[in-house]
Amino acid sequence: MATGFFWDERCFWHSGGNYAFMSPVGGLVQPMATGGLPEDPETKRRLKNLLNVTGLLADLDSGSAPPITTEDLLRVHPQSYLDSFREAAAAGGGELGLRTPFGPDGYEIACLSAGLSQTALFATLRGDVTNAYALSRPPGHHCLPDFPNGFCLLANIAIAVEAAFAARMVERVAILDWDVHHGNGTEAIFYDRDDVLTISIHQERNYPRDSGDFQDRGSDRGDGYNLNIPLPPGAGHATYVEVMERLVLPELRSFEPDAIVVACGFDASGVDPLSRMLAGSNTFRRMTELVMETAADLCAGRLTLVHEGGYAASHVPFCGHAVLEALSGSAITAPDPLADRITAQQPGPRFEAFCSTLIGEMGDAIRA
Ligand code: ZN
Repeated sequence: MATGFFWDERCFWHSGGNYAFMSPVGGLVQPMATGGLPEDPETKRRLKNLLNVTGLLADLDSGSAPPITTEDLLRVHPQSYLDSFREAAAAGGGELGLRTPFGPDGYEIACLSAGLSQTALFATLRGDVTNAYALSRPPGHHCLPDFPNGFCLLANIAIAVEAAFAARMVERVAILDWDVHHGNGTEAIFYDRDDVLTISIHQERNYPRDSGDFQDRGSDRGDGYNLNIPLPPGAGHATYVEVMERLVLPELRSFEPDAIVVACGFDASGVDPLSRMLAGSNTFRRMTELVMETAADLCAGRLTLVHEGGYAASHVPFCGHAVLEALSGSAITAPDPLADRITAQQPGPRFEAFCSTLIGEMGDAIRA
């Protein structure tokens, strides 16, 4: 068996206000590479292309997926939101939330993005693949049931997880979000649930500015099943690895999930324009290895990664390649041209010790 890799060129054509010369994009008019929001197609397409050029793509079980069904969508999103979204897209595109513009094909492409995520999860749960990666676009982890925000139009992972519950493929799922922004949508959807553990590692008060606090642990039956790990800017590689080892992995072990899903953003990169966190491709590789080892121990290795943010077109491809090398165990590598630069910029021992103290305090509070 191989690692599954689910992607579709159409997902790179999602665009909320971009023109090809004088022609609005849509149909057969592909969006231009430049212009518009930071969430542009290049980061994702360059990752797929790098996998192609190195040959790693050929080692993966790659393909597209059918769009998500309305039945699957309705487990997370109300009909009224889906109707508004579909109608606005059909009318030429628009904006229904905060920083989530879409074009005339926006609804169909968002359904395809969610479909990639669900197909990846189901392929993993059925044992068709060793593990899987969905190169979903638009991303999903900020999207609330009736309010899209932060470039996210449908809650890709939540939709996939709910579909897996409905198909009785799982009873307990852990969602680990290492996108640099708080996974506020995923948190909100599962906040009162004890069968879904949600963990978000993020830069404190980056986006959204008013959520992601450590104190937000869930409500009702979900009390204790949401864990936010806000980190100060500049945390760097060692702190991310320490967070995984001291906070994330123990939480996963005590929860004993049937499957682990990772909201895999690469915007903690040291050169990302939307964050200040100093992670390198080695950071994402190491976090992947650690979660793989844990998944092997807890749930027969059932691990699915779904692409979220990541806005440095120069670096996302190498971070993603490192993750897929780890997932697949392939010997094909793509040396990261930014590795030396980011390594040289890591914080010194005093700041790492400060972060270590914060991690210790959070660990004490979790166990209290
Ligand atoms: Zn993000």
